[in-house]
Amino acid sequence: MNDSAGLAVSAPDAGAAIERLAFSQAFAALPDAFYTRLQPTPLPQPYLVAASSAAAALVGIDAAAFATPAFAETFTGNRMPASAASLAAVYSGHQFGVWAGQLGDGRAILLGDLAAPATPAPHALEIQLKGAGPTPYSRMGDGRAVLRSSIREFLCSEAMAGLGIATSRALCVTGSDQLVMRETPETAAVATRMAPSFIRFGSFEHWYYNERPQELKILADHVIERLYPHLREAADPYVALLSEVARRTAYLIAQWQAVGFMHGVMNTDNMSILGLTLDYGPFGFMEAYDARHICNHTDQGGRYSYAMQPQIGHWNCFALGQALLPLIGEVAAVQDALAVYQPHFQASLGALQHAKLGLSSVLADDAALIDGLFSILQASHVDFTLFFRRLGDLRQGDPGTDAPLRDLFIDRAAFDAWAVQYRLRLAQENSVDAARRLAMNAANPKYVLRNYLAQVAIEKAQKKDFTEVATLLAVLEKPFDEQPEHEHYAALPPDWASHLEVSCSS
Ligand code: AMP
Ligand code: MG
Repeated sequence: MNDSAGLAVSAPDAGAAIERLAFSQAFAALPDAFYTRLQPTPLPQPYLVAASSAAAALVGIDAAAFATPAFAETFTGNRMPASAASLAAVYSGHQFGVWAGQLGDGRAILLGDLAAPATPAPHALEIQLKGAGPTPYSRMGDGRAVLRSSIREFLCSEAMAGLGIATSRALCVTGSDQLVMRETPETAAVATRMAPSFIRFGSFEHWYYNERPQELKILADHVIERLYPHLREAADPYVALLSEVARRTAYLIAQWQAVGFMHGVMNTDNMSILGLTLDYGPFGFMEAYDARHICNHTDQGGRYSYAMQPQIGHWNCFALGQALLPLIGEVAAVQDALAVYQPHFQASLGALQHAKLGLSSVLADDAALIDGLFSILQASHVDFTLFFRRLGDLRQGDPGTDAPLRDLFIDRAAFDAWAVQYRLRLAQENSVDAARRLAMNAANPKYVLRNYLAQVAIEKAQKKDFTEVATLLAVLEKPFDEQPEHEHYAALPPDWASHLEVSCSS
């Protein structure tokens, strides 16, 4: 491995650099009421399962450090760099639409923030160890995470970054042979994740429902000062904050819809104040298209189904607006701030859908073309990712070459009828196939983290073979690229995968 000057960094040097990591403590500068200081609980004989060089580079960690004992020990929480000041934050939230009261980091421990010069202001990323042992907020939980869920969070965080979707990042996963009890005994793991801030909508709700307006103001001022400094000059910075968070949330969810991502647990305690995808649990990517699809099998009512995500995002912004009411003062001002959500979501989704269809202009009848497409995808339960990727290959003058697309449909006549409309629409803007294909391949990923791909990697990792996690990471870091040697990662899921179920128990 080379540093920026092109000099080789030896493993011992890289390991020593981990021990000298210079954490700052922006979050810990808040008053004591916001968190509990505590130490991670060590895990016996930790080993590295996976690490992301791209994520590491953001905080100046050389990949040469990954293989060192210092790296595994530090990011399991067994050994703290001197500058770390570990803590668990308190927050509350609405879970499945019901006020759940106090929650908090029940198994995530913050070490502080590291300089990340290439990221947007504040040019720093907080480092959290998820699964590092119990905290005062663990309630009945053991404070641990299992290897399975940690690998899923790791891969999906980096996959979302590859897709250009705002997300917390994942530095690494470490494992230990220590068992933790879930439905069956599983081995413990720690996922190290990074974000400019892990503050959630529920962090604000916490102070609102506890009738602590002073702390509410301290939190809002901290968020504005550190994460949204440009809002300081706004006429009412709290209104501006709410509006900006609503706007970012709307855009995030438009991106989720466009790529077929389902979060699975959009509780307000999992909603990032920065509009990041946060707290990966029973998430999934749409395969056989069904707008009602529920990726979290404990969500029986389908509150967090694919089709519900946009309005749940809106609902969550209302919960944040309610919490900010004491600072904003007027209900009407809260409503005005939130009014941005719906139009911004629609405009963002519309633009993303146009890009997915390779359309560079917007015409009055496009909504009918797009709605028509989603209804035939629904009727034939067509694979979402494969369809859009293959649509880029459609040749305007040659319907005889449509087989790879029409074969995805049970009702092929329905596809043929839609394709006639699509070709007419392309002709209306004088679309050129080669240029359209290039643009569509930059909008429609070839590779997404299908549940079965994660499952294969997890089952190997459970047998201590971590190679598949690394391969999958490499594929998902470049989801828009053709990777001929990895063609099979873009294939339809095998039959056995239709029985996979994912729940919150992780
Ligand atoms: P989630 O639905 O995974 O976002 O978690 C909701 C709350 O439960 C958060 O406060 C978590 O920190 C906490 N939690 C989840 N799993 C555990 C666990 N194994 N031990 C302790 N707390 C947990
Ligand atoms: Mg959570």
